[in-house]
This record gives sequence, C-alpha cells and structure tokens, in this order.
Amino acid sequence: MEGRRIASPDDLATWLAACDEDESAEPFTFVVDLDGFLRLSHRRSEHVVCAGGMPVLSAGEITFAEHGGRWSVEGASNQSTGYCPDPDSWPAVGGALDRAGLDHPGRFTDPMVFRRCPECRERNLVKDAHFFCALCDAELPRTWNMAPADH
Ligand SMILES: [Zn+2]
Repeated sequence: MEGRRIASPDDLATWLAACDEDESAEPFTFVVDLDGFLRLSHRRSEHVVCAGGMPVLSAGEITFAEHGGRWSVEGASNQSTGYCPDPDSWPAVGGALDRAGLDHPGRFTDPMVFRRCPECRERNLVKDAHFFCALCDAELPRTWNMAPADH
C-alpha cells in the first residue's frame, strides 16, 4: 500500500494512533516523494511500494517521540535496500519534516553509505570507509552510484 502523506503534526498523530495496536510497526518506512512530502508505511513495507513505484528524493527508516505534546523525529536513517539513497539526501528529508511542522535532528542519526561494485554489480554497504567490494574485493567509487540509471 502506498505510504500515507504526512503534511502536518495532525497527520502524524492520526497515523501514529492508527499504528498504536501494532508495536512492530516501528521504525517506520519512509520516503520523500517528488513533491517533497514525507510518506510513511509500516516497517515491513517495501520502500518502492511506499513510494507508489515512483522515484523518490530520499528514503529510509524513522522513529518519532513526543515531548510536551509536540511530536519530533527521534531517529532517522537512509536504510532502504530499494533505493539505497546517499546520506547527502538529508536536505530533502529535513525539508519534508519542516514542511510537516515536525522537529528533527538536522541529519541522519544512522547514516549509511551504499555503493554498487563497478566490477560485479553487487550492492555494498560501506563500513568504516572501507571502499572495497565485499564480494570481489574491487575498489568502490567514492561518489554515490546507486541511481536507477547507474544500474
Ligand atoms: Zn564486486
């Protein structure tokens, strides 16, 4: 099912109330659609489904917390095996959260670096700045190369 568009704190509160029964729903799957809006799905949802099959500005996982009656973002990562967005896509996320009136940390709290191997095409999650393919040991590019056109 396509993700719910969150354009205000009320939208978020309504969404969270509906998820209340299902504690396994968090962290939520999110995408930022091409109009710059946040869309949420349960964590078991594929990002591509959350986005209605469309390209996105960013994607990942997100958790929320309430402080003094105000909802804010507690944590956010760019973890999405469907889109493998770059940590540099944060401004799209921050912009969508600003637009929805939600406080946020100003960055991905759990940034992930994805690279496609130029030799064997394997998708790699780069850890500790070790830019080598886990499968074939080829050197990985330093710039993001996960866009659909690069596949
Ligand atoms: Zn490789």
